Formats: sequence, C-alpha cells, structure tokens
Amino acid sequence: MNDGFQGSSVFVTKPFLPPLEEYQELVEGIWSSNQLTNGGATTQKFEKQLCNYLEVSNFHFVANGTIALQLALSGLGINDGEVITTPFSYVATTSVILWQKCEPVYADIDPHTLCINPDKIESLITKKTKAIMPVHVFGNACDLNAIEDLANHYNLKVIYDAAHAFAVTCQGKSLLEFGDVSTLSFHATKLFHTAEGGGIVSKSRDVHDLIELQKRFGHNGDTHHVLGINAKPSELHAALGLTNLKYANDILEQRRQLYSKYDELLADDLYWYRQRLTIEKYNHAYYPIIFDTEEITLLILNKLSELSIFPRRYFFPSLNELPYLKDRQQCPNSESISRRIICLPLYVGLSEDTIQLISEVIHNV
Ligand SMILES: *Cc1c(COP(=O)(O)O)cnc(C)c1O
Repeated sequence: MNDGFQGSSVFVTKPFLPPLEEYQELVEGIWSSNQLTNGGATTQKFEKQLCNYLEVSNFHFVANGTIALQLALSGLGINDGEVITTPFSYVATTSVILWQKCEPVYADIDPHTLCINPDKIESLITKKTKAIMPVHVFGNACDLNAIEDLANHYNLKVIYDAAHAFAVTCQGKSLLEFGDVSTLSFHATKLFHTAEGGGIVSKSRDVHDLIELQKRFGHNGDTHHVLGINAKPSELHAALGLTNLKYANDILEQRRQLYSKYDELLADDLYWYRQRLTIEKYNHAYYPIIFDTEEITLLILNKLSELSIFPRRYFFPSLNELPYLKDRQQCPNSESISRRIICLPLYVGLSEDTIQLISEVIHNV
C-alpha cells in the first residue's frame, strides 16, 4: 500500500510532515546523547507529553499498533481461548488474536455506527471466551456501557483497538480510558504519527507494569521474569512524535474544516449514507461513505481513478471472510458494508477544490 502522495495523484491519506529543522534539532540531541533506543530521554519525554496531551495515565509508547494489541492480550494473560471481536476492522485486529494462539469469534456490526453491535455479543459467549476486542471504528466510540455491562457480567476483559481514536473524548473523558486496555497506532497513515509506532493505555497499574517487562524481552538485568518480545520504539521515532505533537491541534483543526466541507457537499442521499457518530469530541480521522450497492461503489472508484484520485476501500474485506480462518462465520452487515464503503481523501493540505471535485463525481454517478 502506498502511504502517501505521489506526483499529482490524490490518495486517501498523506503523512503529515513537520518542518524538517525541528526534527533535526531533536536528532542532534540524540546524537550527542549516544543513546538511540531502550527508552532514552527522548522516549521518556515523548511519553510524558503525550500522556498530558491525551489526558491518560499508564501509557506505553511501542513500536507499532499491532504489537500494542498483542501486548494488550499478553498483558492481560490471554494466550488461549476465544476472543470476541469485530469483523469490520483492519486485518491486524484479527491477526494479533491468532498470533496469541486464540480464536477470533466475530460479532456483527451496527450498520450506522460501524462498531460492534453489543446485542450480537452475548449469544457468542462460551466457557472459552476470555475477552472482547472491539474497535472504535474511524474514531467513533463503541457502545461503551453495554460492552462494560457484558464484560462485568461474564467476567471478560475488554481491549479496545483505538488505533483511530487519538484525541477523542466521550462521557467527559478520553475514549482511551475505557476498557481494561486501549491501544493506539501512530503509523504514518494515521492522523497523528511517529512514522511507525503505537501506544498502550492500561487501566490497572499491574497490567501496565507487566507490559513494561513484556515489551522489552521480559527481563530486568540477568533476571528473566516472563516471556517477552521486542516492542521498543527508537529515540528517532520518539523525536518525530515530539515534533508532530506540537502540531496536533493544528492537524485536528484542519481536518475538522475539510470534514465539514465534505459534510456540506455530501448530505445523506437516496444512494448513500455516512457513519453515525456517538462521541462528544471527534478527531475527524476518516471520511467514510457507504453507498447503496457495490456496483455504484466500484463505478465511483473507477471514475475517481480516471482523475488520479484514489480513495480506499476501507475496510475490505470483512475479516470473517479471511481465507486462512478455521471456520467461516456469518456477519451479513459487515460483509455487505465492506463491499459498499470507501474512505474519501482526508489529510492536512488537501484542497477544498479536490473535495468539490470528488463530491461532483459522486453526485454525477
Ligand atoms: C492501523 C491499524 C492497526 C495497526 O496499526 P500499525 O501501527 O499499522 O501496526 C490496527 N488496527 C486498526 C483498526 C488500524 O487501523
């Protein structure tokens, strides 16, 4: 996948690049410190500033959003059994469950919020169920209270894949504060990035401390406590994060403006609808649009590609349809929507003229 912008083509996203001199200045500090990784001063500073910015505690900066999810499972002691998850996500949400030697069990989504439908979860709970792993799809909050009630009633852990939920608030606090663990992705294509990177927010200090060990091979000096992995980010990634963090408010504001431009031009129509948002403060991470049929969707993609505009079929395919799964579970909403949804280009620097052009193509088709 191309993560950016080439020539005059317009892709679904384009990585935000801060002024190079500001990054360079931090890199010079790293050079003189002689420490390139292993939780050096830059990583510590970034973790602290990001915690303040996101208003969370018990935070780890890790190498990427996928290993963040995997550590969330291992930090909660989930290494076997079943995990109930959503079929409507990026493939990493399912692959970490498989890497942890667990079985993904799919609960279908609500067609309007695009998040897991809590009413579909209960009947899937068995003696083997260990956790629920929903996704705050496109930064929209899941049905937090219903999921919490189920988890409490059946004694299950909740891990939110909050890869899209940077700086979203719900019920008066950060969306990352819900569930036992929430994870973020700071991949270059995400709204806030460190080129590659991820974050873990744990509710319990014990889980946070266990993940601290697990993310760096599981040992302190020569004493080996637990099975670990290498999930450490480098100081260079932390430096990019510190630099980008200064622009986070500007990024959020620019995206808000572009998003409302789309809203103005693409009010729900006979042939399409948009995601229903359930949060107080949104981050405008994506602009998904769901068409009436797959035929219309493909036609629009085709027309836009003739103009060198490449939105993304996202998410596609529905994860319950992955060819390497043991059994084929049915999720009609997710299967249908994944064939009819596209995310329109949305990034800092996108012109309103392009949004106008995209909207015209959609209306004409
Ligand atoms: C991007 C993404 C991930 C994976 O994050 P990486 O940092 O690319 O490893 C996981 N889940 C969702 C929903 C994502 O969008």
